[in-house]
Amino acid sequence: MTFGETMAAMRAHGALRLGGSLGLSVAGAESNVAIGLARLGHRVRWAGRVGADELGALVLRTLRAEGIDTTYAVTDDTGRPTGLLLTEPRLGTLTRVSYYRAGSAGSAVSPADVLPALASGARVLHLTGITPALSPSAAEAVLTAATKARDAGITVCLDVNYRSRLWTADRARTVLRPMTAHTDLLIASEDELPLLLERPDADESEAVQSLLAAGVGEVVIKRGARGATSFTADGATDCAARQVDAVDLVGAGDAFVAGYLSGLLGGTDTPARLHRAVTTAAFAVATRGDWEGLPTQDELGLFDQPDGTTIR
Ligand code: ATP
Repeated sequence: MTFGETMAAMRAHGALRLGGSLGLSVAGAESNVAIGLARLGHRVRWAGRVGADELGALVLRTLRAEGIDTTYAVTDDTGRPTGLLLTEPRLGTLTRVSYYRAGSAGSAVSPADVLPALASGARVLHLTGITPALSPSAAEAVLTAATKARDAGITVCLDVNYRSRLWTADRARTVLRPMTAHTDLLIASEDELPLLLERPDADESEAVQSLLAAGVGEVVIKRGARGATSFTADGATDCAARQVDAVDLVGAGDAFVAGYLSGLLGGTDTPARLHRAVTTAAFAVATRGDWEGLPTQDELGLFDQPDGTTIR
């Protein structure tokens, strides 16, 4: 199960200031992961708040169409709108994202919105460091859900996902560091580790050791086109990224998490989890959109087909 803000996403084909047509979809880090898992055949529940508007209906309809349980999703009845983001391709794979989410329904998510969804049972609770940046009630929802999940024996996964547009590094550190005490599986980019440490100048090895010593069971570090590494008390496991022509990097991290959690839920070992994670991430990188190109179980093997293969 997961929760967070899912927004309407309007994607431009060129520079926004030149106008032109936009494609309408939805996006949110947690729902990207939820869609990735649902496509791989897992049962997934998404909780969160959307506006009582057409874009909120689009969010819920899209998640339901992807087979995600939205029973506990809340529609805001106080006039807050569904959040919005705009993306524009600038240089190659460099994309600019503009948010219109301050005061949105999704940012007003509260413990009361998400705890019933958690109470109905789950094996994994997936959280991101985006949600606590949205509002005090959203931060409370994340901390309360993580605490309750841990008490209930539910595996808590936290993807740091630092967004400098939403809060400063100092504020993020203040909120995210206490979260590590409730986290079983911590996923971070290389540059996000200092946000979780008492000593931000620690090197990677010291950082990982201090997180494992603080009770995090596993730390997974994403290294972009260089792949990823998993660290546990038993040591480190590296995995190279899949070789692909990068088209759109947005959503790679979420796709990676979906693949990793899919392996975890399937009971596979660490190398197999990482392999699935870099494979689902490669689908995100090689296709447009945050989640649209994510694979079904049957499609995972496509990467092993020779280039130019036609599927008949
Ligand atoms: P984002 O937040 O932008 O979605 P991230 O910073 O969380 O991304 P990255 O480390 O950039 O995550 O990417 C996650 C994974 O995606 C990597 O571990 C790797 O497997 C895959 N990946 C990223 N870039 C490439 C690339 N150019 N080619 C192949 N795989 C890639």
